[in-house]
Amino acid sequence: MKKEDCIFCKIANGEIPSTTIFENEEFKVFFDINPASKGHCLIVPKEHYDNIFDIDKEVAGRLFSLAASVARSLKKQLNCEGMNLVQNNGEIAGQTVFHFHLHLIPRYTGDTVNVKWAPGQADVEELAKLAKAVASDL
Ligand code: 5GP
Ligand code: ZN
Repeated sequence: MKKEDCIFCKIANGEIPSTTIFENEEFKVFFDINPASKGHCLIVPKEHYDNIFDIDKEVAGRLFSLAASVARSLKKQLNCEGMNLVQNNGEIAGQTVFHFHLHLIPRYTGDTVNVKWAPGQADVEELAKLAKAVASDL
């Protein structure tokens, strides 16, 4: 997708309105238009990156630091009991807006949020090989 057609670029530069919690030169934090729970918000870098596979790693670091601050403030203000941080990458993973964004989803007893998967079985030998291969490529 071209950057000019990206809805989160437009939200980041104020062309499309959003209920903004915080912004600085680098990031914008705003409420999700279709929240999974009360307080569900998104953190985006103002620079366009499609997803985790192309985001600048320094930017990602600062974004996560901001997420920790926002999470603490949300928890205080909403009195939520927990919070899921969700970050989808690629259509297969449920990404629908192809501009990097981190979901902060406050959790409450009896809410309808579902981020569970069916647990699988690990093959320990295969995991050991994979661990080495991934580590060698970091
Ligand atoms: P994804 O499925 O890509 O991880 O999440 C995209 C999120 O963006 C969804 O939760 C959706 O509700 C939210 N969203 C899509 N369009 C808009 C919009 O125009 N404004 C806001 N505030 N959120 C949006
Ligand atoms: Zn964008």
